[in-house]
Amino acid sequence: MPRPDTSPFPPAAQAPGPPVPPLHALRFDNRLVEELPGDPRTDAGRRQVHGAMWSAVEPTPVSAPRVLAVSREMLDTLGIDESEVATAGFAAVFGGNALLPGMRPYAGNYGGHQFGHWAGQLGDGRAITLGEVLTAGGERWELQLKGAGPTPYSRTADGRAVLRSSVREFLCSEAMHHLGVPTTRALSLVGTGDAVMRDMFYDGHPAPEPGAIVCRVAPSFLRFGHFELPASRGETGLLQQLVGFCIRRDYPHLDAASPHVLGDWFGEVCERTAVMVGHWMRVGFVHGVMNTDNLSILGLTIDYGPYGWIDNFDPDWTPNTTDAQHRRYRFGQQAAVAYWNLGRLAAALASLDGAVEPLQAGLARFVSRYEASERQTTTDKLGLDGWRDGDQPLMDDLQAWMHEAEVDMTLCFRALADVDPQVPDAGIFQHAFYDEARRDAGRPALDAWLHRYAARLLDGAQDPTARRERMRRVNPRYVLRNYLAQEVIDRATAGDPSGIAELLEVLRRPYDDQPGNERFAQRRPDWARERAGCSMLSCSS
Ligand code: AMP
Ligand code: MG
Repeated sequence: MPRPDTSPFPPAAQAPGPPVPPLHALRFDNRLVEELPGDPRTDAGRRQVHGAMWSAVEPTPVSAPRVLAVSREMLDTLGIDESEVATAGFAAVFGGNALLPGMRPYAGNYGGHQFGHWAGQLGDGRAITLGEVLTAGGERWELQLKGAGPTPYSRTADGRAVLRSSVREFLCSEAMHHLGVPTTRALSLVGTGDAVMRDMFYDGHPAPEPGAIVCRVAPSFLRFGHFELPASRGETGLLQQLVGFCIRRDYPHLDAASPHVLGDWFGEVCERTAVMVGHWMRVGFVHGVMNTDNLSILGLTIDYGPYGWIDNFDPDWTPNTTDAQHRRYRFGQQAAVAYWNLGRLAAALASLDGAVEPLQAGLARFVSRYEASERQTTTDKLGLDGWRDGDQPLMDDLQAWMHEAEVDMTLCFRALADVDPQVPDAGIFQHAFYDEARRDAGRPALDAWLHRYAARLLDGAQDPTARRERMRRVNPRYVLRNYLAQEVIDRATAGDPSGIAELLEVLRRPYDDQPGNERFAQRRPDWARERAGCSMLSCSS
């Protein structure tokens, strides 16, 4: 890959003030490997691992690690000074070429239901946790490299990740955080200098692509599949240990000694999952591969693969080409799939103490929490003064019109804040259409809807300015549109990674109007409609 002459990270000028703690001052407290049984084998040979939740494995060094982007907020959270980013040590550690004192790298052992079927052991085939950082403020953050080389769980694959999918994971993790969606985070994106072979559309045309590594960060990377695997093997003792560990480390506010703790904990997992999916529906995010190995036990959005963002509103849309036929993971089905996945988790947990009622109660908590979040989303996105019985049809009819008339979801909801209920004007949506004929055909439905909406607003007692401001805090202006990600990927692949930081800068303030950045808020251009990476994504990454 050609490289530009200048690094995006010139060394910081020496500022006066207290000395900056170096990277190796990070403090590690590796509870998972200390408290849960590990694999006695320590080589990277691919294998089935029984009776253990993790295998020790080190990242495989890369040729020329180069930092392509970092998240300022994550540097801050972890207590890493920005001046460290330009050091060779930073690139070496987050490119997988060096370990810091206190790190204990491992790959996690989990299974999963993929596309509705039990797939057996999967595990971290290309993710390697470096360690659990304990910050000065007492927060715990696992650092995990994705694409750092083979592990015992790599099966037939290479343990690496390509630049395009790494840019997407890096940007989306941070974009989601700034949108207020629960998510794993990303600290850094490092180019490896090595090529990775991928057959992007599984059509017999493998080609070399630049490799990269994301350092992702979360309080826990435990997934539903971690619990399913020991249950599937009858390793009940191990499952019990894992549940106890997860409650102690990741749910410390629960009383681990309570006889109800299993149900309490599962119920909270259900609620957090409902909240997460509720946010996805609010912002127009489609995960794309909601297999149980890709659902976090903390209700964080995890594993950004062939995800996508809704442009023209379409509940049946899925970005994932592998799922194109059945559309199991389509936008409008995400809550139902999350519920199904929680059912698989409940089935795994049922082997612990036979009592299914607390687990059923947990699933019911998902339903009520999700319904509450749907109501809240409707109230907030429409800027209503509170919830009334006729409000759901108002939202349903708006969405039906958006679908029929091919309207951009983000632009439409953002424009709603500008509706003047005294003189509702359909002109505020003019920049949100993708097709003129469908726009014109949908005009009567829009006029009728605007009329009802205006009447509903006038019937409530709300200060118009306050309503507008409230709506603008839930209806983002800037989201990581698929084509925007693809544009920076194309530039980065051609040797110029500066677009990644530029786009991240915009996505840091998704709810603000940003004069000068209007082009990042525009509807998908025609060229992107059918282009790979923009409207369809392959699982190959
Ligand atoms: P995903 O579909 O990305 O969630 O991955 C499903 C499983 O395949 C997980 O166990 C991954 O670790 C594994 N996997 C995906 N890509 C690779 C790769 N390039 N090398 C090794 N394992 C991989
Ligand atoms: Mg995965």
